[in-house]
Amino acid sequence: YGAKRGRHGFEVWAPDADTGSRTRLQTLEDLRVALDAEQLDNHYQPKLDLHTGRVTGVEALVRWQHPERGLLAPGAFLPLAEQAGLMRRLALQVLERAIRDLRDWRATGHFLSMAVNLSVSNLQDVALPEQVRFLLDTYGVPADALVLEITEDVLMADAARSQQVMAALRRLGVRLSIDDYGTGYSSLAYLRALPVDELKLDRSFVSSLTTDAKAAAIVRSTLQLSRDLGMTMVVEGVEDEAALDALRRWNCDVAQGYHIARPMPADQLVSWLAGRPADAVVS
Ligand code: C2E
Ligand code: MG
Ligand code: MG
Ligand code: MG
Repeated sequence: YGAKRGRHGFEVWAPDADTGSRTRLQTLEDLRVALDAEQLDNHYQPKLDLHTGRVTGVEALVRWQHPERGLLAPGAFLPLAEQAGLMRRLALQVLERAIRDLRDWRATGHFLSMAVNLSVSNLQDVALPEQVRFLLDTYGVPADALVLEITEDVLMADAARSQQVMAALRRLGVRLSIDDYGTGYSSLAYLRALPVDELKLDRSFVSSLTTDAKAAAIVRSTLQLSRDLGMTMVVEGVEDEAALDALRRWNCDVAQGYHIARPMPADQLVSWLAGRPADAVVS
């Protein structure tokens, strides 16, 4: 998994294949403009509770509606934002939009939780917990409805500082999740030491779940581990019914993936939810 690890680590700060230095500079300038003009938008991907069959939460995934290049996925601009020191602004925009949308959905009876991804620099930012608290207060959203997803690589950058930030977030009542679990520096010591509520197993294990006995064994033993640690296990990247069936049989808690729903804009999520039987709607 060496190559993959770079996605959230320092290696990704090398220029992308498609960005020579000039394009890179251009993209950076565009990104500053985009942040000023709020051209970034959140898409939301549902999380399905396998015990109840209900959608109980969503994950916010940032998108950039670029005026010339069209809709860009995070891989096309997050590394640059991280390198250019724009991640605090970006994270605050994503968080505010996510919490505001969550407030709106909850006001109409959709008592969902909201997961937001954080980067290496976000977890080094000691001002972050106070900003999160401010946003939760401003929109009147309970802290335990917010899940912050962090990758294992985050913990390697400056473990002491990121653990301090995590502890402060946890004191607010926000829940913490380890994203892409199993692909980074998965030290079992971290699982014991960190105040984490959820494990999110990387999709690479899920894609071969039904064809590769080793992948299946890893999924099942991680399920057992999360259960024994009192954590919720989320499996991401569920792309077919066979995988979903196996996960149900193995008593997995939560699943996410294209087979359930793709990430979608906020207004589409509302109609998607409306098209499901009674789902997550509590009167
Ligand atoms: P992630 O948090 O692990 O999110 C899952 C990614 O897998 C998303 O890609 C999602 O669209 C994709 N995905 C979901 N279901 C499936 C599936 O069944 N099959 C496949 N092949 N893919 C699936 P996306 O939106 O391109 O995001 C990529 C990564 O960018 C995210 O990985 C996350 O690490 C990062 N990211 C996204 N939004 C933010 C953000 O607001 N802040 C930060 N710091 N990172 C973000
Ligand atoms: Mg995530
Ligand atoms: Mg992930
Ligand atoms: Mg990821």
